[in-house]
Amino acid sequence: MKNIVAAFALSLCGILGGCTTPSNVPADHVALEERAPVTILVSIDGFHPDFLDRGLTPTLSRLAADGATAKMRPSFPTKTFPNHWTLVTGLVPDHHGITANRMEDQGRPEEPFSMATVDPYWWNEAKPVWVEAEQAGIRSAAMFWPGSAVPWGGTAVRYGPVEDGILPSDWQQFSMQVSNTQRVNAVLDWLRRPEDIRPQFITLYFDTVDSAGHDGGPESAEVDAALRDVDTHIEHLVEGLSQLGQPANLVIVSDHGMAATSSERVIALDEILADGTYRLVEAGAYATFEPVAGREAYLAAALDADHPHMECWPKEEIPARFEYGSHDRIPPFFCLPETGWTISATRSDVEWTGGNHGYDPFAPEMSALFVANGPAFREGVILEPFQNTVIAPLLRVLIGLPASERADGSLAPVAHALSVQD
Ligand SMILES: [Zn+2]
Repeated sequence: MKNIVAAFALSLCGILGGCTTPSNVPADHVALEERAPVTILVSIDGFHPDFLDRGLTPTLSRLAADGATAKMRPSFPTKTFPNHWTLVTGLVPDHHGITANRMEDQGRPEEPFSMATVDPYWWNEAKPVWVEAEQAGIRSAAMFWPGSAVPWGGTAVRYGPVEDGILPSDWQQFSMQVSNTQRVNAVLDWLRRPEDIRPQFITLYFDTVDSAGHDGGPESAEVDAALRDVDTHIEHLVEGLSQLGQPANLVIVSDHGMAATSSERVIALDEILADGTYRLVEAGAYATFEPVAGREAYLAAALDADHPHMECWPKEEIPARFEYGSHDRIPPFFCLPETGWTISATRSDVEWTGGNHGYDPFAPEMSALFVANGPAFREGVILEPFQNTVIAPLLRVLIGLPASERADGSLAPVAHALSVQD
């Protein structure tokens, strides 16, 4: 430690000039060691990039202005789990296997996937960057992230722990009861550790902006309050890092934006399709169907007809720009409404307004946040919009992992933002 302090003091002298011995360094600097940058991937679920323009997020807006920023296009479907898995694997949902927030699979006939599922069976098709890091001896820690409590690559055993899986060195079971303050404090506490057990790659996840967006819609006072709150927590993170003398490359993203929804924009399936001809797998911002045996031709024809505010396809015919439809977990028939419309099994008399996502990833309302700030990034860079398959290749560069052989995106759209280019 003494050598590190001396080196730090000498380098200060070199930069500032005028001092000749380490004793000139102020006492409160003596405890500082020279730390390598940590990479922190932050997700603010449901944060639309235009939220930065509301004047409610001074810290995030400053990080964007002093670093690199872009409007990022989510992958399809614009739902939370598929996109968070894309962010850390670099593959689109059709390729990484988390094709929806709710999935069915013939390998798990009695246990459909829900967002609480940690059976590695569902996740093993694509390796997240923290597993790559752990395997390379780079310590990682997850303060929540979809899939981070899954022993990746392992095998579920009835009445026992998963066998042979890999987790981040530090992780936590997701709970909305863990406050945003606790989440930030957990990250800072990890970084207070001695170097040999300190993470070099960290994920941090906030769900409050998304919850407010669903409740009140993207223009609501609830969202404004959640934006102020999350910005305060980002400020605490940045201040805490500074107090620790911990340089950090922050990559702050969201998984999707948010569109206003209303009971005035509902498509009721029972007004379009005959009873007993289909089973609805998912509904809302899109709908997926299994036909009842023997009614496949009826369902195909009924869905193929013109429907106001909605388009439907057999999964094989979903337009190519969605990059979706080949995976076994995607049900045979698929409908996408106009952005802001809701597909529902039936119509209700209850009036409501709110917000939702899951729509066309090219819709402006679905756009996602990208802010990168730290020693690896140039200042004041505004990038052209890019798809979120870029994030995993970017993280690999920041962490020091080689490029992946299996990737749907490349570093190219963000290369201009990097301060040191290969
Ligand atoms: Zn989300």
